[in-house]
Amino acid sequence: MKSLDVLIFLGPPGSGKGTQAEILTDKLNFTHLSIGDLLRENIVNNTELGKLASNYVKSGELVPDELIINLMDFYITELKDKNGIFGIILDGFPRTINQAISLENKLKQLNVNIKSVLNLDITNQKILKRLAGRGREDDKPELIKNRLKVYRNQTEPLLEFYSERSLLETINGDQSEADVSSAIINVLKAEVA
Ligand code: AMP
Repeated sequence: MKSLDVLIFLGPPGSGKGTQAEILTDKLNFTHLSIGDLLRENIVNNTELGKLASNYVKSGELVPDELIINLMDFYITELKDKNGIFGIILDGFPRTINQAISLENKLKQLNVNIKSVLNLDITNQKILKRLAGRGREDDKPELIKNRLKVYRNQTEPLLEFYSERSLLETINGDQSEADVSSAIINVLKAEVA
């Protein structure tokens, strides 16, 4: 069995993390883990987790670290046990320094490496344009403003965290979907060849 690697996608809401993660998943036989998708699924199905997370997601706030870290722990352990999976793409996790430290500890335990942290860098102007066309419940203008603030305050410090670990790769997310995708593949080429 090949070794398992983790790729992390960082970037503000609307930077294309989910779209690019899907493209890479198809191309590289990676598994895509989106905490946002899992939370939305749980909210729709009205599970215990969904009930706990609902108000945070609907107001554009982060769900408390403890819940998210448990969720991540569960899925990463499960994926690690699946044969033949080459890698996991984490899209939208970690979003706080606490989450990043927990992830680091968890991966150390499992003897899994973070291969790269891809930062999709994008202007506010482009974010607003993209999110306006998406139509998700938390994409209303006042909520977008809050989610951007949350990103700048709580998630952006991760850029330095991963830069210090020499894992950060910044990609210009203002380009077309196809160009962003090629830029990511170029960055990863040496690593996944
Ligand atoms: P996303 O689909 O990644 O934009 O996430 C949608 C919403 O889910 C966010 O606005 C948060 O409320 C919640 N969420 C997703 N990922 C996380 C995370 N790593 N930590 C806390 N909350 C999260």
